[in-house]
Amino acid sequence: MKIVLATRNKNKVEEIKQILKMYLEDEIFSQIEFLSSDDFQIPEIEEDGETYEENALKKAREVYKFTGLPSIADDSGIEVEILGGRPGVFSARYAGEGATDEENNKKLLKELENVPIEERKAKFKCVIAYVDSVEERIFYAETLGKVIFEPLGDGGFGYDPLFLPDGFDLTYAQLPREVKNRISHRSKALKKFAEFLTLKLKQR
Ligand code: IMP
Repeated sequence: MKIVLATRNKNKVEEIKQILKMYLEDEIFSQIEFLSSDDFQIPEIEEDGETYEENALKKAREVYKFTGLPSIADDSGIEVEILGGRPGVFSARYAGEGATDEENNKKLLKELENVPIEERKAKFKCVIAYVDSVEERIFYAETLGKVIFEPLGDGGFGYDPLFLPDGFDLTYAQLPREVKNRISHRSKALKKFAEFLTLKLKQR
């Protein structure tokens, strides 16, 4: 079976594959050939939805339409309580269209200047959308934590160096990859997807 991951973000592709390897039985995982948007000439998909669900579904639908193959898309972001949930769906372009991770992190830290640690509560949210010829599904999860005062660690991507998940004293970027991949918002949403896919394949 082929599955297309509807993203050009290489970090996400790798992370999604590693996580699915953890949650799918070996026999199922080894039957899947993972492809991504980079394997096709898929035109850029504008993420203009107001919610993660809308964006994830839009990406999965368009990639399905283009490739005719089962497609999954991830839409995710970080929401900071004291900022009223910002940057949220705008996480990838918080510091402007085409902004780098570093620029986005800098902007977030600036907005949180002088905010004490107990008021820096944040959550990472993830929506995984799956689309094939017969159905569309949505899987949602979140991970709670805090935004710290300066970037720490060099693993991961995006806001990883700033996010301290509850129950840990290391950021997403400092935690060993296997640990982030067990506790992250993306991991929890993909676990639900893996359960769905397992059932679907066993019922065939
Ligand atoms: P998307 O590609 O439109 O879903 O944008 C998600 C953005 O949210 C990314 O560019 C990152 O800035 C941020 N983000 C989502 N998931 C993570 C994560 O696991 N770690 C760090 N940043 C993330």
